[in-house]
Amino acid sequence: MAQRTYDVLVIGEGISGLSAAHALAQAGLKTATLEAQLFGGLVLNVNELEPQPDPARTVSGAEIASEMMQANADLGVSSIQEAVTMIRNGSATKQVMTSAATYEARQVVVASGARLKKLDVPGEAEFEGRGVSQCADCDGPMYQNEDVVVVGGGDSALQEALVLAKYCRKVHLVHRGSRFRAQPHFIEQVQANPRIGTVWNATVSGIAGGKMVERVQIAHGDGRSEEIACAGVFAYIGLTPNGDFLPREIERNDAGYVVTRDTLETAMPGVWAIGALRLGYSGLLPDAVTEAKQAARTIIERLG
Ligand code: NAP
Repeated sequence: MAQRTYDVLVIGEGISGLSAAHALAQAGLKTATLEAQLFGGLVLNVNELEPQPDPARTVSGAEIASEMMQANADLGVSSIQEAVTMIRNGSATKQVMTSAATYEARQVVVASGARLKKLDVPGEAEFEGRGVSQCADCDGPMYQNEDVVVVGGGDSALQEALVLAKYCRKVHLVHRGSRFRAQPHFIEQVQANPRIGTVWNATVSGIAGGKMVERVQIAHGDGRSEEIACAGVFAYIGLTPNGDFLPREIERNDAGYVVTRDTLETAMPGVWAIGALRLGYSGLLPDAVTEAKQAARTIIERLG
């Protein structure tokens, strides 16, 4: 197996991981990022970031991630396209294993983020790519003048319902609760949008159709059920942290979020956690960057 040694390995090329790697490399530390999928993480599917990182211009998530990848490459950060399978705590260094190689690092930053949860109802897997989607920006234009269903009541559901309302005849926002938990400005925009109608206290219990999605089954809290005719279903019902590769020594809560100290160090000394897989992360993009800079600053001091 190949052996490669770095000062710091950053697991994940989302905004938090790329920001941390940038700060570490700027300080002269030999840094690599590891990513199993396409760089960019959760923002990759967002056309208009909210809030915009640079108020002077409007950039998409993909654009900002591409710019950060380029800036990191210019600083000499290695980008390794491999999935991490394990972290081991050696005496002087940590070992980060992938299916292809074992890497050594003095410090490790875990920024592997989170993925969108699935509804887990009949028809969801069957109609994936045939009306079932979790990318409103990518697939919204295919639903011009159609009806779609969005599930959820948080920031993601409301933000993506607003994206879909630009194209669709009607967006049925199905929420299991009786109030949204999203930021006030999303709630105000949704309530003011005549193309978005909210179905309160209800869940989607099934997705059906022929070649493509044609309808969803709705289970109301009061026991009633109904069908809504629609061509698309977009579920935004929260996130699952990407931490399956983490060893038991790194404490996580029941939902899998990594517990850190105030310094952002995990229960394994020299291993840090930032961004969407960290318990306590706000979910706001600027905070992903702030956490990355904080962890990088402490690592630079420690290795200095
Ligand atoms: P979230 O805040 O966890 O909200 C998930 C929503 O889905 C909740 O309304 C929840 O209902 C509902 N839900 C959960 N499980 C469900 C199920 N099985 N069936 C039906 N509904 C279900 O997730 P999110 O909206 O994806 O946001 C994740 C994080 O990213 C948050 O911190 C958020 O603030 C952040 N975010 C920020 C922005 C932005 O700033 N522009 C944009 C998107 C996301 P209950 O309310 O009843 O629990």
